[in-house]
Amino acid sequence: MSFKYYTPRLIVSKCLGFCNCRFDGSVLNSQTIEMLKPFAEINTVCPETEIGLPTPREALRLIRANNEEEIRLVLSYSGNDYTEKMKEYSKEVLSRFGEVDGFILKNRSPSCGTRDVKVYPSAGKVMIKDEKSSGIFAEQAMQIFPNSLFEDDGRLTNFVIREHFLTSIFALAHWRNVKSSNEHKELVQFHSEYKYLFMTFHQDTLSKMGKVVANQNKLSFQEVVQQYETLLNLILRHTPDPGKNINVLQHIFGYFSKHLQEPEKVLFLEMIEMYRKGRIPLSVPRFLLTSYARRFDEEYIANQRFFAPYPEELITISDSGKGR
Ligand code: SF4
Repeated sequence: MSFKYYTPRLIVSKCLGFCNCRFDGSVLNSQTIEMLKPFAEINTVCPETEIGLPTPREALRLIRANNEEEIRLVLSYSGNDYTEKMKEYSKEVLSRFGEVDGFILKNRSPSCGTRDVKVYPSAGKVMIKDEKSSGIFAEQAMQIFPNSLFEDDGRLTNFVIREHFLTSIFALAHWRNVKSSNEHKELVQFHSEYKYLFMTFHQDTLSKMGKVVANQNKLSFQEVVQQYETLLNLILRHTPDPGKNINVLQHIFGYFSKHLQEPEKVLFLEMIEMYRKGRIPLSVPRFLLTSYARRFDEEYIANQRFFAPYPEELITISDSGKGR
């Protein structure tokens, strides 16, 4: 089975491989973004240069003075305040985009960082506070696009986080296509293909999605889509773990066990145990089940996105262990 993939729409920090626009004139490299280039629509932004700051420039920082409610964006030493300018720019530039599946932003940046930006008590040479926040641009983006996926370049070096991000953005891109089709059969097909993948995210939400698709109240396509999308955004907030993956592997194995010899069943159980103990990756038992789907011509199973949630060219097992 070869899967059709839809093109995720992303917004990415420009200094991650596109422009020497960091405060010191440097550019960074992100392996994930490099790999994504042929498969995604990538829109780049550099909030700091786009509000008129030069490169190289004095670094910006976030400050919360005297425990005030609002965090402000200021130049590190002169203290010039860019908070309002950055907020206005962010709203204006983000309003130019329609639906966005995901953001990949530079970590620790007072403008782009999604969660781990140091907060200082003031400009100048001072000790940092024991507080972290998101950058001003990232914060505005998260408010305007509450259902998009947000990750930073650092976290995407972690295998599990990257896997979740890639799976989600390709699912959202596919979903945009279903919505624009205006056809209930496309929704049924989408739900069918993603059933086992979404079961690894959250089983209860998957059941609710199934009821929406069944549409017993005979709602219009737009109403069904609205209800389904709410649940889709909810389910993508969950992260698969080995226990949920094993549950799905066992469900799928149930389609084939009646055809298999005892030693083959034992081998599968041994693989599950090795996966549970972290000795082999999920791809090993998954490949075995793919081979069974082909061997026994089980089309419904062969079509499951669980086996290939995103293009195989994006698969890499590298794992920094960071961001867990
Ligand atoms: S982190 Fe954001 S604001 Fe800073 S250089 Fe990169 S893109 Fe520009």
